[in-house]
Amino acid sequence: MKTIWKYISVRAKYALTKKQAMSLTMLLLGVFHAWLLAFFAFYSISTMVVIDGLAIALYTFCYIKARKNQNLFLLFNLSYVEIMLHSLAAILLTGVNSGFALFPIAMLPLGYYATYNFDLEKKAVNPMFYVITSVAVFFLARGFGGVIPPLHAFSDKRAETILYIVNYIVVLVIIILFFSTLLNQIKLLESQRIHQNRKLEELSKTDALTGLANRRSLQERYENSEVLKGGYALILGDIDDFKQVNDTYGHNVGDETLKAVSDVFKNAVRGEDTVCRWGGEEILIFLPGCPLDNAKIRAQHILENIRKLRLKTQDGKTFRITMTLGVAVSDETDTFSEVVEKADDKLYKGKNEGKNQVV
Ligand code: GH3
Ligand code: MG
Ligand code: MG
Repeated sequence: MKTIWKYISVRAKYALTKKQAMSLTMLLLGVFHAWLLAFFAFYSISTMVVIDGLAIALYTFCYIKARKNQNLFLLFNLSYVEIMLHSLAAILLTGVNSGFALFPIAMLPLGYYATYNFDLEKKAVNPMFYVITSVAVFFLARGFGGVIPPLHAFSDKRAETILYIVNYIVVLVIIILFFSTLLNQIKLLESQRIHQNRKLEELSKTDALTGLANRRSLQERYENSEVLKGGYALILGDIDDFKQVNDTYGHNVGDETLKAVSDVFKNAVRGEDTVCRWGGEEILIFLPGCPLDNAKIRAQHILENIRKLRLKTQDGKTFRITMTLGVAVSDETDTFSEVVEKADDKLYKGKNEGKNQVV
């Protein structure tokens, strides 16, 4: 009961799928027609008994097909035709006061829903088809029902009232289920979209191989941080003789090496720092508010941990690597690329002076 209440008050994190919605509708319509059959049998209105018997057979068929998720649009159209014909027949036979004219009106929103959900690609049916036919059937039924006396008028007025109330309730249930399902589906789609957008945003900011920030995301962090006042440091590291790693052990081992190096960098920074894959095997750390001495200590610490790495070749042997790191801090007038250039100059110097060091 609580679940149903949550669902119809659109507070559920769940929505019936198209298949589930169709199966449930077919089941409910089948049950409703079984009740109608019993009702009309009780009052000996045999034409309606036959019509409802056929309707039960139709909904049994539709239910089985809906459970298999087959031809949902065809199933909707079959039930639509059945509801229109049933509504007309019931009014002509039992009179307009039995409340069957409610059904063509209740089918109006469902026509829109079905064309949108089941006929989206083909666009074979204009939803206005359902609007026009529903309205036409409604007026036809009300019109004829008002002029022609019913063929099987109930002698018992209570029967008419019961039928009217039941029809009213069924139509209410249809409308409530329809709108809550529609809104739950929209809500679910919305939350899926937000989740996907978050994922895409994350993907667009990270490097796929190493999981480090990419240049774009570093740029964003730089622009968003208030470092321009306090200054910042950059550490630019480049793996020594990395080409040789690739050439000797293969590209896959090269990739694994890059990942291991990236992990060392990730573990060496504070929360406010950003580690970025700057180029192929070049890693840049952006350290807001970090003085030169601290940045040097940090770079040294990274280098020591890189030296400690035991990397595995494909046949299980281990090898080691080294790295050269250039450190620079910003002056008040420096642009970001100027500070990168400074760090790059230091790196270049380190490479020329024998690699495996912090400059
Ligand atoms: P140096 O000590 O002067 O830096 O020598 P090096 O061989 O590391 O320098 P170089 O910049 O010439 O070579 C970098 C190599 O990095 C070349 C390229 O194939 C490799 N590389 C770049 N990106 C990747 C990658 O994503 N995966 C792998 N496996 N290799 C990469
Ligand atoms: Mg290199
Ligand atoms: Mg390089």
